[in-house]
Amino acid sequence: MALDNTWLTEASEATGSAFSLKIKQKLHEEQSAFQKIEIYETETFGNMMLIDGCTMVSTRDNFIYHEMMSHPVIFSHPNPKRVLIIGGGDCGTLREVLKHPEIELVHQIDIDERVTRLAEIYFPELCESNNDVRAELMFIDGIQWVKDAAANSYDIIIIDSTDPVGPAEGLFSRTFYTQCHRVLGENGLLIQQSESPLLHMKILREMHQEMKTASFIDSKTLFFPQCIYPSGWWSATIASKDIVLTGFREDAAENKSFGTQYYNADIHRGAMAEPEFFKNQLSSI
Ligand code: SAM
Repeated sequence: MALDNTWLTEASEATGSAFSLKIKQKLHEEQSAFQKIEIYETETFGNMMLIDGCTMVSTRDNFIYHEMMSHPVIFSHPNPKRVLIIGGGDCGTLREVLKHPEIELVHQIDIDERVTRLAEIYFPELCESNNDVRAELMFIDGIQWVKDAAANSYDIIIIDSTDPVGPAEGLFSRTFYTQCHRVLGENGLLIQQSESPLLHMKILREMHQEMKTASFIDSKTLFFPQCIYPSGWWSATIASKDIVLTGFREDAAENKSFGTQYYNADIHRGAMAEPEFFKNQLSSI
């Protein structure tokens, strides 16, 4: 990550691409027990958080990602009540999940409490639901949490983690998916941020393969824009414990009782449409 006192650039050596934002000032930097956390005030995207040099969340465009990590999977479940969020330390996904009145319990398990404490200061709008009586925020390794959880504990698991390196690497493994499968109840669904369809097809192919090997009977990738992430084109992949992912509760989505800025039933339908290259590369799985 480079800083020439007016521009902040996240360069991805692996993909030979970079993303830059004009900045006003650096607001904070620290090395937590798990990762380096930086926060900047930008000229046009509000505040921005980086973890280990990777863009995480910006004031301006986080709504797309947080809405797509929560509403499609909830409207795809027939009767969701108990949600587990792994990661999600900036609390934007938690806020979206809690907009659904039928949700009765949300456990948010992030390994690094410092991410949440800094989000409370620099992204307070994302943390506005943190004191909801249905929410419980705990700061533990999500891999350990799922390993220790009882079978049939959750209806939905949302894996809103950093990239598959460092503390998040194990969240992209067959072993972890197998534990998630055990911990999900009947009709259980898992959704995981699944990187860029343009830049990271290898990760996406492996993810679908490992989810299948972990006994999930179906998996489906959703596509959506995310400006601050590499290539600006992102995805999230849903895996289903025992129902085929053909549709979602369209009527409930059309008549949702809460506001959104990006998600609606049309966006949900569109996000499920698969590009030809993607179909071809997954056809052998
Ligand atoms: N939207 C971001 C993205 O797609 O890269 C992710 C946002 S959130 C800040 C990512 C969170 O994952 C971080 O707060 C980090 O602490 C957390 N995390 C990484 N590995 C973890 C693990 N093993 N268990 C729980 N949380 C983890």
